Amino acid sequence: MKVLKDRNLRLAIQKQGRLTDETLDFLRKSGLEFESGRFKLFSSCRNFPLEIVYVRDDDILEFVASGIVDLGIIGQNLLYEQKAKVKKLLNLRYGFCSLIIAIPKESNIKSVEDLNGKKIATTYPVSTKAFFKKLNIKVRLVQIAGSLEIAPALGVASAVADLTSTGSTLALNDLRILTKIYDSEAVLIANLEAVKNGKKILVDKLITRFKGVLSAKNYKYIMMNAPNKLIAKIKKVIPGLKSPTISPLAKAGWVSISSVVKEDIFWETIEKLKKSGASGILVLPIENG
Ligand code: AMP
Repeated sequence: MKVLKDRNLRLAIQKQGRLTDETLDFLRKSGLEFESGRFKLFSSCRNFPLEIVYVRDDDILEFVASGIVDLGIIGQNLLYEQKAKVKKLLNLRYGFCSLIIAIPKESNIKSVEDLNGKKIATTYPVSTKAFFKKLNIKVRLVQIAGSLEIAPALGVASAVADLTSTGSTLALNDLRILTKIYDSEAVLIANLEAVKNGKKILVDKLITRFKGVLSAKNYKYIMMNAPNKLIAKIKKVIPGLKSPTISPLAKAGWVSISSVVKEDIFWETIEKLKKSGASGILVLPIENG
């Protein structure tokens, strides 16, 4: 049987579930090379002193807190629910979901206050309890491990406090959102010692790679052609990170302009560029690694 190397960093990720594919994808985008497979317990990276350990989502926090592994990737929702002694290092910008309160579409409940004295089914009792306590609303919690959506139809509870991302499961079960408790996404967490001791250098190197993927995700590279006389106008439109690169074209009086643009204002910028007279606009993703 293969054993984990002690001096390598150990990162626990979800073995099988909602975060698995996107996590593997994220790690590969960070330039890490490893074999993965459904039946593997762990993978050793070929080009980084890292072992990726595949475990149940619910066990990751405990593994990180106790130092069995140095790092873990989990949904932020688990951090809110179980107050473990770990350090959150990074938000990873995938695995987005929200913990919400949902009620049957036909319910006569109109506001959160109407839930006073009612039963709420949830897999997230700590977060749900804290939410209602803050509002000074008294509810009875019914803890259910899975398939919460069925609870109102079975008469088990008047509402559910559940995670949702697209809302399609709720709609399928004739439920509608009454309010949101919090938003969540995948996060990188670390054992408190691992970020202090000899492994700190490796943790920092890994974080640099992860940050590279995150910034590449948030920016796009654009190139366009324009006549010289429009350069000043176009420069105003591009809120580039640095000043745009401007190079002359073979066609006299014309230049090629390239810059990096933030994804959230990207479409707006393209429209403005077209209006300013730029032509042949080309958009390229920024590859990491
Ligand atoms: P699961 O594979 O169901 O154990 O979910 C693993 C993690 O995926 C959860 O802890 C959440 O952080 C995240 N997640 C993302 N979208 C959803 C969703 N619609 N329902 C449940 N979890 C979600």
